[in-house]
Parts: sequence; structure tokens; C-alpha cells
Amino acid sequence: MGDAQDKDRLRTYRAKRRFERTREPRGARTKSGQEPGFVVQIHDASTMHFDFRLEVDGVLKSWSVPKGPSPDPHDKRLAMPTEDHPLEYRSFEGVIPEGEYGGGTVIVWDQGTYRPMSHDRRGRPVPFEESLERGHATFWLEGTKLRGAYALTRFRGRGGPEREAWLLVKAGRERSAARGTPDPQRARSARSGRTLRQVAADPEEVWDSGGGPEGRARS
Ligand code: MN
Repeated sequence: MGDAQDKDRLRTYRAKRRFERTREPRGARTKSGQEPGFVVQIHDASTMHFDFRLEVDGVLKSWSVPKGPSPDPHDKRLAMPTEDHPLEYRSFEGVIPEGEYGGGTVIVWDQGTYRPMSHDRRGRPVPFEESLERGHATFWLEGTKLRGAYALTRFRGRGGPEREAWLLVKAGRERSAARGTPDPQRARSARSGRTLRQVAADPEEVWDSGGGPEGRARS
């Protein structure tokens, strides 16, 4: 996979942002770990929502999930695709300035790795990216909060992410002891333990946006 293709994949992401104004990562090429990662961010934008992102082939495939993922298999959560994000976005927590695209506060609600589980009707494994293209992908999440099998299923709008709608659902039959998702206003970051309010109160601080300790910009 060449740099040219990486740039192209993130073109929509970059076109929507002014990086001299926002501390979100620009998307330099970074090496991916052994296991693909996932992150769930809470984004207090004009409308509060969760951003669910899975690392696929060098970028973060992304869905905006208004109610957030639920550990209860009976909850079908609407997931609207958004543009691919750079891998470093996994660790982005901070304030996107008002007036900028996606302006508002972001915390990392959950993070971890995932294992692709997609199979075809005969039980043969399907490459994960292909399963997403087909509109049904299953995966096992190993997060600090979310753990277990989940499925993303497209139910509307082939032929362009803007027209698509998906459902994010916990797989399996058993009803989890954990119900729904926490109140976004009270939820704490899996990275820093901070709430949205605490992050919003300290907009100059960027935690780990470079993916390592040197990214901590507290002075
Ligand atoms: Mn968002």
C-alpha cells in the first residue's frame, strides 16, 4: 500500500478540516500494530453522538452512532457511515474549535483491539474489508468496556456512504448484565479518566494525539 493511496483515502477527512485551527491529527502514515484496533469516542458536537471506528487496511472506518454501542443484543443501534479517519485518531481526545468541522469536545470512551469474524454462508472466512463492502461484518471486540461479538449490517443505501445506514448490534442471545450505554455527560475516558466537561475545561491540552507519551502537551 503506497503513500499516494493513503493520502487519497484521507482526502475527504482532510478537506473538511483546517489543521491550523484544530488539534485533530492530520494523518501522517503510521505503522499499524499486530491486531487491528478500534475506538469509540463520545463527541459532544451540535448533536451528541458516539463515533465508532475500526482499523481496516491502514485507516479507521468510521460510523456515527447516535445512541452508542449497547452490550444488549436486543438493542439495534443506528450507525451512519462517516469519512475514513487516520489511525492516530484512535487516541484523539480534546476540543475541536467551534466553527470548525465537527466542532465540540471528544473523549475516548472505549479502545482496544478487535478480531474479524466474518464468514460467508458456507462458513468460510471472508476478508474483513470485503465483508464491509458486502454490508455485513462481524467482529470480536476486546476493549476496556466493550467485550464480545458485534455485527455491523447495512440496511439502506448501497452506492455511496452518504446514503447508507447501518445497524450496530451485539451478537449472541444472552442479555448482558450491562444495560445500554452510560450517560455521555457522566461517562469517563478509557484513556485519561476524564469526562467531557473536564476535557472541555482544558482545551489547550492534547492527550496522546501523537500516539505516545510525547504527545502529551501539558505544560
Ligand atoms: Mn463525530
